Amino acid sequence: MNRHQTVFLISAILLFAVIASAQNLQARKEISIPDIPGYITLIADLHTHTVLSDGYVHPAIRPDEAWREGVDVLSITDHIEYQPHKEWIPTNHNLSYKLAKGKSDQLGVMLIKGSEVTRSLPLGHYNAIFLSDCDALDVDDPMDAFKAASEQGAFVFWNHPGWPREDGIPVWEEVQEELFQKGYMHGIEVVNTRKYYPLAHKWALEKKITMIGTSDIHMPIGMDYDHRHGDHRAVTILFVTERTPEGVRDALDNRRTAVYHDDILIGEDKYLKPVFMNSIEVVTPEISIAGKGHTLLQIKNNSDVPYKLKRSSSDETRISYSDEIILIPHRTVLVWINGRSETELGRFEANLEYVVENLYVLPETGMNVRIPIVVDHSAK
Ligand SMILES: [Zn+2]
Ligand SMILES: [Zn+2]
Repeated sequence: MNRHQTVFLISAILLFAVIASAQNLQARKEISIPDIPGYITLIADLHTHTVLSDGYVHPAIRPDEAWREGVDVLSITDHIEYQPHKEWIPTNHNLSYKLAKGKSDQLGVMLIKGSEVTRSLPLGHYNAIFLSDCDALDVDDPMDAFKAASEQGAFVFWNHPGWPREDGIPVWEEVQEELFQKGYMHGIEVVNTRKYYPLAHKWALEKKITMIGTSDIHMPIGMDYDHRHGDHRAVTILFVTERTPEGVRDALDNRRTAVYHDDILIGEDKYLKPVFMNSIEVVTPEISIAGKGHTLLQIKNNSDVPYKLKRSSSDETRISYSDEIILIPHRTVLVWINGRSETELGRFEANLEYVVENLYVLPETGMNVRIPIVVDHSAK
């Protein structure tokens, strides 16, 4: 090989390496939360900002970020009343949707048109999504904005309900009651950015409004979330019958949602139970134990959620088992099981009873689960 050929070969290798690494950047990483019986699981971020209000990115960047991070449904909800860049970017409430639509379609990210109604306390901020014309919300009286949203058939939720109160604790004031009574409030952010509001969680259950979790991202998403190293934005999980905007709307209207924030899933037992059961796989559902000896059960977790299990039952008549387990995402873990008796032998069905501490079915309260196994218990 002469010098020219060597230079050419090295250049080709370098070029290939650059292309390969660039292609790695153009990759989507799914959020692994399984479908449940009867429903497809979709991941949504229904609260994001761009330069068209107080954000710092072009609208077309949002669907690109969403696609990479495994988000299926996106809403850009720039502020109606807060337009700090208007000196050089004239106010146009419909423009962020228009500028993001092409990229969304290209990547298959469902884009839902929305705006954020932005008022001082006690009213606060609300996202109206499924709008047809965001301009209609740019009015003096906030109640007229809600009326306009309602006339367009929008879905409206209360954003960051504890912000900007000093203690961060939300208060359900007369004005929220008025919105609720008028049918203008359909959901509430139980999580906004990295903040969980247990009170909002409680209200969502009591008042039967939809639980929402959002990033409320203003910066390029990578500046706030280290996605490549396992971090993720707060999202709403939707249990849909079809992967369409109508399917998304139906899930929101019928409160078939959960919130995924940090390592925590928040939602009703009827949705989180099948999510958990469809996430795990008992690799060795039948185990053999001799006398008071022990054996190891293998449980695999196919989801992204590190389920934190704490034993809830103290019934130890026939077997005893690990007090605490962390089901590490995409790994198989070992659970020890001990025989308790040397006389009561034979083959029987047992349930391992745990509380999954990071699945909140009530405010800051874990979910009870039973993992069925079969034990073949023989004499020593
Ligand atoms: Zn806000
Ligand atoms: Zn916002």
